[in-house]
Amino acid sequence: MAPGASGVTEAGPAAATAAVVPALRLVGGTKSYDRGHRRIPVFADVDLELRLGEIVALLGPSGSGKSTLLRTLAGLEPLDRGSIAVDHAGRGAHLVGIAFQEPSLLPWLTVAENVALGLRFGANRRIAPGRDAGTVAALLEELGLADLADARPSQLSGGQAQRVNVARVVLTGRPILLLDEPFAALDPATRADLQGWLARLVRAHGLATLLVTHDVDEAIALGDRIVLLAGRPGRIRHRWIVGNRAAAGTLRREILAAYRADDPSAAAGPVAAAPVTAVAPASLDSSS
Ligand code: ADP
Ligand code: MG
Repeated sequence: MAPGASGVTEAGPAAATAAVVPALRLVGGTKSYDRGHRRIPVFADVDLELRLGEIVALLGPSGSGKSTLLRTLAGLEPLDRGSIAVDHAGRGAHLVGIAFQEPSLLPWLTVAENVALGLRFGANRRIAPGRDAGTVAALLEELGLADLADARPSQLSGGQAQRVNVARVVLTGRPILLLDEPFAALDPATRADLQGWLARLVRAHGLATLLVTHDVDEAIALGDRIVLLAGRPGRIRHRWIVGNRAAAGTLRREILAAYRADDPSAAAGPVAAAPVTAVAPASLDSSS
């Protein structure tokens, strides 16, 4: 978990990291909400594994249950059925950090102060209240945010605010990172910058990351694995392993076809287990 310890470069596939350790395992995750007298199923029978140093991109149409799935993985809401195992000495949901599309920074605090606040409540409580501003400065430097340390949230661009938002979660030291469409509101150039930044961050810190995105290209650019959640309730319809980003064109067409085929209005009844498609097998790791 030490920053930079893995020494893996941005483009390095998960196979190059020492760790393909399962950090979080969801088995048979099923969730519904009560609405009036009705029970509304949100997602059903979801199996998902997150591994340290790896990004899983979660794609799916609006309403397929992606945000709800993230909240249950973060321990913010209970499942109806299924189990979530977090593989770190019983510290459970405290090991899971979550960041949303809207940066939730406190407007009256500077960037450094916002980050420091996160650290006080982090899994490893890296700093005590009001102490060790040097630690915060060093961490901001490491994440390329040193220039922003004294800025207030209102002075940040959308991209800068989202960088701080994600950094704040990463710096709590929690090894499992859940991101709910973090870059959806950004312009394409800023989005591309942040994607590169996130990829480096995840590799350097060895984080097990689940990235919800609507953007197929973002899923291919960042995901080591991609899962497609679709239907009502949302079920995992497809899984891909991204072995070689050079084959992205083919994979993109395949994902888009699956996306369209899994239009919730067309989906009815149970589906077979999601197929796993490996792209460019020559460069795959041993995972499945
Ligand atoms: P996604 O993030 O994939 O767009 P959500 O997880 O936000 O999907 O929502 C999935 C379904 O669950 C939607 O039909 C939504 O209306 C419903 N839902 C989400 N949160 C609640 C809630 N707190 N109470 C009742 N229904 C909810
Ligand atoms: Mg959502």
